[in-house]
Amino acid sequence: MICETAQELIHGYLDGELDLSRSLEVEQHMKECQVCASAYRNQTALRSSFKNSSLYYSAPENLEKRIRSSLRREAKSEVGRRSFGWRWLPVGVALASVLLMALVVWRAVPGLRPSGDDLLAQEIVSNHVRSLQLESHRADVISSDQHTVKPWFDGKLDFAPPVKDFSSQGFPLLGGRLEYLNNRAVAALFYQRQKHYINLYIWPAEQSNATGEVAAKRQGYNLLHWTNSGMNFWAISDLNGVELQEFARLVQEAQ
Ligand SMILES: [Zn+2]
Repeated sequence: MICETAQELIHGYLDGELDLSRSLEVEQHMKECQVCASAYRNQTALRSSFKNSSLYYSAPENLEKRIRSSLRREAKSEVGRRSFGWRWLPVGVALASVLLMALVVWRAVPGLRPSGDDLLAQEIVSNHVRSLQLESHRADVISSDQHTVKPWFDGKLDFAPPVKDFSSQGFPLLGGRLEYLNNRAVAALFYQRQKHYINLYIWPAEQSNATGEVAAKRQGYNLLHWTNSGMNFWAISDLNGVELQEFARLVQEAQ
């Protein structure tokens, strides 16, 4: 089985929709292929994070006001008509149309629903948390030597991630591993800052122009992402924002 087929089948495999022989083929492939095994682990982590309440968006505050005032208006105009039973019908119709309108607005205005970056940030938080759960999840290649970690990625990725150790600046490299994020195989470099761990994810950017750092906070973790030298970088840690920024600057200056 080739990776492309395996990754298409992973969703069906997770949902138990494959027949036995297909399931066995997927399992066999994941035993032999780190990239697909990692895609499977990410899907599992992502699915459990979807159950997390942080992904549920509550309705905008003015929606409630709109429903209430619309209810009041309808109730007032109907106050003269005392026929019980029919009295509430226009209210129901108004309520239904307000909800429909809210749905249309929600789908039409990008700012109101989770964007691609939001979903990616969620994926990165899940991946970071999972990497911290077990020591064996942190790195596939354990070394603080950039000349050991960098060649380890050869042949495992279709790009060469920049790998640098920042021990002398207080951010020692601990190792690297392969991950599957944003629908592709990416490099994950694992760093330490005193008692905090940093994951730095790297993959080729679609456009080559550099972008400034964008900071975000998710579930207590600081995230920073930027594009530089044709690569996307996402750094995540429970480290404070200032020191994570310092780390990001070191990475950028090393390019
Ligand atoms: Zn594979």
